[in-house]
Amino acid sequence: MVIKAEVLIVGGGFAGVSVAQALERHGVHTILVDKKDYFEVTFATLRNVTDPSSTENQARKYYRDFFCGRFIQGDVVEMSAKSAHLADGTELHFDSAILASGTRYPNMSMAKSISAMDIQSRNQELLDVHQRLKQARKVMVIGGGVVGVELAGEIAHAMPITQVILAHNKDVLLDNFKPKAQIKAQRQLENLGVEIQFNSRYQYQNGCYIDLNNGQASGADLVFEATGVLPNNDYLKPHLAHILNEQGFVKVDNRLQVIDEPSLYALGDIADVGEAKLGYLASQQGEYLAKAIARNEKGKSTKSYKRSPLMALIPVGQKQGLVQLPFAVTTCNHLVRLKQKDLFINKVYRGFGTQPNARIS
Ligand SMILES: Cc1cc2nc3c(=O)[nH]c(=O)nc-3n(C[C@H](O)[C@H](O)[C@H](O)COP(=O)(O)OP(=O)(O)OC[C@H]3O[C@@H](n4cnc5c(N)ncnc54)[C@H](O)[C@@H]3O)c2cc1C
Repeated sequence: MVIKAEVLIVGGGFAGVSVAQALERHGVHTILVDKKDYFEVTFATLRNVTDPSSTENQARKYYRDFFCGRFIQGDVVEMSAKSAHLADGTELHFDSAILASGTRYPNMSMAKSISAMDIQSRNQELLDVHQRLKQARKVMVIGGGVVGVELAGEIAHAMPITQVILAHNKDVLLDNFKPKAQIKAQRQLENLGVEIQFNSRYQYQNGCYIDLNNGQASGADLVFEATGVLPNNDYLKPHLAHILNEQGFVKVDNRLQVIDEPSLYALGDIADVGEAKLGYLASQQGEYLAKAIARNEKGKSTKSYKRSPLMALIPVGQKQGLVQLPFAVTTCNHLVRLKQKDLFINKVYRGFGTQPNARIS
């Protein structure tokens, strides 16, 4: 089957959905393709695993229930500057395409699933991890970035008798954050009883995790590797390898146009935009790009995309957290509670012009 698209969007995460919804508002018709049949607010998945009753099914929603353009569930396996091929043999021909295929955690599918393509199997995937967590006495999280810090805090809060270790290969947590944020995160985790091992070098060998510094095994019943993301770029390698940088991210100019490929744009985690890889920034890029494409269609130019400084609101357990703003770091309860309330699930869906599903129970 051959389908023709004015604008094809590959990937329905924060970047793809934001740009698609905004393009539809500007009167530009889109086809959004994603492997999964649902969007997921990633910010909520860690608590979903440690305390399933807190947000229940609300983080996930079928595209068909809110996306206002055309949605096709499919796996893009190959792409050129004019067409994309899905695993089921469908060919999609386009005038322009937006690459928004994001990233994955190679060994932590609970953070972003690489196997659960429908909501039911995703719910089950998270519930299975919850059951394994409940049975574990000693849990280790490897990686002291945002996801590692948040995960260690969530486990320690929800399962206070479980021993939680956070192993990081540097001597501070949250590498690119301000020193005050790094110290606050450390103190808050220690308040929850998390043991932090700095400068560790754990590697999986012969069925267990060994610290290469001293040859000691971790002794943990359950280990999570929150050690960074890989770009979802396999479909680009056959015909578009030249658009990837050395790390495998898509090279874009300051209007989010792919370098040397005028029919392609890229944004969000997959793109080398020069900003932190965060969902709220992917959405911001989506709003910008939709406006730029709509103006371009009318023969009008657009200013360059303005990169934002790193801001983040990181929950550390369900009662604490820290906020990094452009000029300050704070643990002010009022701000922290903004996210603790529902992990921004409502805010994200409101931004997409919809609301979360009703709770199941
Ligand atoms: C646990 C966790 C907590 C986080 N917390 C925060 C937070 O508090 N605040 C924040 O701003 N950010 C947070 N982030 C980061 C945020 O989730 C990412 O920056 C964001 O998901 C990037 O969005 P994206 O649309 O670029 O990519 P993704 O979310 O990775 O979406 C890419 C989409 O493309 C699809 N896809 C990939 N390849 C193909 C293909 N070949 N064919 C079809 N479809 C494909 C995937 O199925 C996926 O739906 C968190 C991330 C995690 C994992």
